[in-house]
Amino acid sequence: LLEARGLRKTFGTQVVLDRLDLHVGPGECVVLIGGSGSGKSTLLRCLNLLEVVDDGQILLEGDDISDPRVRHDAVRARIGIVFQAFNLFPHLSVLDNITLAPRRVHRVPRAEAEERARAMLDRVGLGDRAAALPDQLSGGQQQRVAIARALVNRPALLLLDEVTSALDPELVGEVLALLRELRSEGMTMVIATHEMSFARQVADRVCFLSEGRVLEAGPPEQIFTSPRSARLRAFLAALD
Ligand code: ATP
Ligand code: MG
Repeated sequence: LLEARGLRKTFGTQVVLDRLDLHVGPGECVVLIGGSGSGKSTLLRCLNLLEVVDDGQILLEGDDISDPRVRHDAVRARIGIVFQAFNLFPHLSVLDNITLAPRRVHRVPRAEAEERARAMLDRVGLGDRAAALPDQLSGGQQQRVAIARALVNRPALLLLDEVTSALDPELVGEVLALLRELRSEGMTMVIATHEMSFARQVADRVCFLSEGRVLEAGPPEQIFTSPRSARLRAFLAALD
């Protein structure tokens, strides 16, 4: 479903992605782990065209989305992204937050956009909160709204960057439960996280990023119980 080849991204003299390759199959849940600064967020931002890669190619369902002529809006309808900070518009209702991009960017008629948004809110368990303002919701509920917003264009791929990091511990569970459900429904996802227990539960494949590359990848059992590289062993040891 997604094939990234030889991605290179530099900031000044710093090489953040160093000819990185990543393959994500349909329905697969790939979890990115790695030290702070290893490039997880940068990779997700490049996949979603929020950052321009210096070199390399990104194929989504066979289409080269790294071609500079590609319309970014069209790609972002196909690849949803959710961040640590929910980035909801505080002055807009939950419903309006979700319908904004479909209506303004993708020209979906209001009635259809609202119907889709309500279906998505039901999906994330917030069907009764459509009229609420974001600050009337808990952090976990706000993050679920952000996920509903990312799903409203029916993307082929969902990217999630540390989506539970800003949440109080008691609210983390509801967001992780939603991600587990999405996975079981076959949503293709790439998730960057520091939560190894979650990575272990949800990942089909774990990719360990180091020095701008996927240094080691495999099923969670392999990555967490028999890491091959010294760097991954050191990374995991430092977590305990
Ligand atoms: P964390 O686990 O802390 O979230 P990460 O793996 O997501 O880390 P990135 O945020 O991708 O790491 O950052 C990788 C490197 O790129 C870091 O050294 C960071 O300082 C640098 N970097 C990221 N964005 C920019 C930017 N816009 N300008 C300059 N440097 C940047
Ligand atoms: Mg990050």
